[in-house]
Amino acid sequence: MIVLTACGATTSGSPSAIATQSAALPTFAANTTSPHKTTSVPPSSTPATHVHSSAPAPPTTATVNLPAGSGPLIVIDPGHSVTVHATDPATGLDVSDYENEPEMRDVYSVAELVRAKLIAAGYRVIMTKPTLTTPTSLGQRAAIANAARAALALSIHDQAGSNGGIGFDAGNNTVYYQSVGDYRETPSGTKVYFTDSAVAATSRRYGQIFQSYRAATQHTSVALMGNTGYDLGSRGLPAGDIWIVQLLSHVPWIYNEAGGNSAGQVGLDVADEQTYANGLVAAVEACVPVQR
Ligand SMILES: [Zn+2]
Repeated sequence: MIVLTACGATTSGSPSAIATQSAALPTFAANTTSPHKTTSVPPSSTPATHVHSSAPAPPTTATVNLPAGSGPLIVIDPGHSVTVHATDPATGLDVSDYENEPEMRDVYSVAELVRAKLIAAGYRVIMTKPTLTTPTSLGQRAAIANAARAALALSIHDQAGSNGGIGFDAGNNTVYYQSVGDYRETPSGTKVYFTDSAVAATSRRYGQIFQSYRAATQHTSVALMGNTGYDLGSRGLPAGDIWIVQLLSHVPWIYNEAGGNSAGQVGLDVADEQTYANGLVAAVEACVPVQR
C-alpha cells in the first residue's frame, strides 16, 4: 500500500532554478551516440530544451572521483536533501528536493552502513551526497551515477514520522524498478519518458532480487513495482509514475522504500537500520557479484 504522506514529496522549482543549478547534467537530446538514451519527448510536444527561455542546456558531465580498485561500481543514494530548487536543463523536469526528517538522517545512516559493508566486500562505492546536509538535487544524483557509469544505483528511503509514519515491519516495504513507458511531466506539461529497454530489463531483474533479499532479511513482505502505481501528481508532485532519479538515470536504479518507525519511537533505531542495510547489501551482492 502506498501511503500518501511526506516521503518523496517535493517543492516547486523557483523561476531562477536553472541559473542556480550547479552540476552539469546529461543532455539527452544532443547525445546521438549514447546507447543509453533514457528520456525522450514525443514529437508532437514542445521540445524539452525549448521549454525554458534560458541559455541552452550545458554539456553532459558530472564530475565524480572514481574510487581506486576494480570492483563493481555501486552508487548509493540516501534519500532527501536540505531544500534545493532546481530544474534539469536537458529535460525541463523539476528536480527539486527537500528535507524530510527524521527520514533524511536515518536513511543516511543506513547508506553509510551499506557503503562500509560493500567496500569491505570489494566494491567501489560512490554516494550521491558527500555529507548528510550537502544540498543535492535529484538531477545531480542521477548525473553522478551516469558519469560514473555505475553497475547499479540504489536509493534508500523510509516512512518515518509521528504523523503518517509506519512501523518498520508494518508496511511501505517496496522495491521500484525502471520500466519503459514510465514518465514524469515538466511544469509546462511535457511528458518525459523512460525509454531504455535494456536498462529496464536489467532493472526489473535486479528489482526481483532486491525484493527477495530484503523480504528474507527483514522478515516481512516486500512489494515489487515497475512504476509508482498511481499518479504522483495526486500528491502535488510533478505528474507521472516514476521517481525522478530513476527516470534520469542511464544505469539500473533500484528505489527502496521501507517503514520508518522502530518499535516505541519515531524513526529507525540502530538495529532496524542495520537490518535494512543488510538486506540491501545482500541484494547488491546477488545482483552484481564481485569477481574473485
Ligand atoms: Zn523519502
